[in-house]
Amino acid sequence: MTKYETVIGLETHIQLNTQSKIFCSCKADSWGDPPNTNICPVCTGQPGVLPIPNKAVIKKGILLAAAMNSEIRPVSFFDRKNYFYPDLPKGYQITQYDMALGKGGYMDIPTINGETRRVTIEKLHLEEDAGKTIHKPGRRLLDFNRCGVPLIEMVTGPDLRSADEAAEYLTRLRQLLRWIGVSEAEMEKGHLRCDANVSIRPIGSTELNPKMEIKNVNSIEHVRHAINAEVKRQIKEVEAGRKITSWTLDWDEDTQTLSKMRSKETEADYHYFREPDLLPVRLDAEEKDKVLAQLPELPLKRQARFEKEYELPTYNAEILTSERALSDYFEATVKFYRGEAKQVSNWIMNDVLGILNERGLSAPELQLTPERLAKVIILVDNKVINTSTGRDILRKVESSGKDPAQIVEEEGLSQMTDNAAIEKVCAEIIEENPSQVEQYQNGKKMVLGWLIGQVMGKTRGKADPQAVRAMLQKLLSD
Ligand code: ZN
Ligand code: MN
Repeated sequence: MTKYETVIGLETHIQLNTQSKIFCSCKADSWGDPPNTNICPVCTGQPGVLPIPNKAVIKKGILLAAAMNSEIRPVSFFDRKNYFYPDLPKGYQITQYDMALGKGGYMDIPTINGETRRVTIEKLHLEEDAGKTIHKPGRRLLDFNRCGVPLIEMVTGPDLRSADEAAEYLTRLRQLLRWIGVSEAEMEKGHLRCDANVSIRPIGSTELNPKMEIKNVNSIEHVRHAINAEVKRQIKEVEAGRKITSWTLDWDEDTQTLSKMRSKETEADYHYFREPDLLPVRLDAEEKDKVLAQLPELPLKRQARFEKEYELPTYNAEILTSERALSDYFEATVKFYRGEAKQVSNWIMNDVLGILNERGLSAPELQLTPERLAKVIILVDNKVINTSTGRDILRKVESSGKDPAQIVEEEGLSQMTDNAAIEKVCAEIIEENPSQVEQYQNGKKMVLGWLIGQVMGKTRGKADPQAVRAMLQKLLSD
């Protein structure tokens, strides 16, 4: 058992999924576009132009702030963060400093041991993105497409206690962002970027030690690896009697190593001041309420409700609420079905998720609508078809868009419930397979399963396997 405790804070930059950029009408998402094709005088900082705030950005900011339990300031300000870098053509970044849109906040995340970790939010503000520098041997190329893309920066308190908790927070944040529709949150596309501040201290200490900032991690798994590597390194340093000083580190997933980028700059270096070209962001109460009315039930709440209201195991509830559309699909099916919700949960987990995966669809795109899924389950409940036929029908409904009952009818898939008919097929199979029958009668009971399989094959899966088993046992014991 280690005698150190890990202290982690995460700084995330979230790209909002608005149509246009934050202060001009250029397209915001230029993923895959040729360099410098979504730019204009505003986002490239030409003289004589003025920024105009994009209302959709403010709305999404309000939604996220509310979802993070952050207080929304009725008046907030934009500020200039001044620094020189080639991919920042204006020489400053428009951001929010001391009077940001959101004040405080938190997110409660479940931890592995079934407890809840409250992750506090220290900063939540709007800002514009900078461009991209592409490093080539001997030269640098600049792409300004990303200049002015709307971001929300969110910084947590030093509340996370392990790499796993950091990964859980990011997973829950990504889920939330998609759930409330403010960001596509694809890390590999840079919609959700994360820097991790990591330090260690002896267990029981409340002191905060110098932290290392890890940059350039572009997947949740990489964040986990990078933090674990850094914790290991810091423990080794401290055990060897060396002191940790703050650095910014660059994570290389291929070699699983961290390298020093630079010493950390302090906030004072940026000479923040109020942005003179923009008015304060004033939210009138009515407008704010209108936005807040769009906030849906949040994922962790919905998960807890599914466990309680539908008596689902935590695992099922968690999977079914992994995406909002899937959780809506589940609830809509339960409404049509009217039986036990657990049944619907099982059919979705065992079959529908597979169909979604195979076909690369999301729940609302399915031809296997909630109503059709409910109908298939009811056909099985009423023993019109058996379970395995039901599973086949799900796929047929998805491919054809036909009603389940129509498929049963057209393909003659109704279960054989006529006992005389089942008896006839069983007798045929016994007659055709004397050596297997002999094995069975000599005590090799496993052969029964094989015989059942033969009957199911001959009836094209339409017989009730339970009835076949009973019938074979009866015939073979006579
Ligand atoms: Zn522009
Ligand atoms: Mn930032």
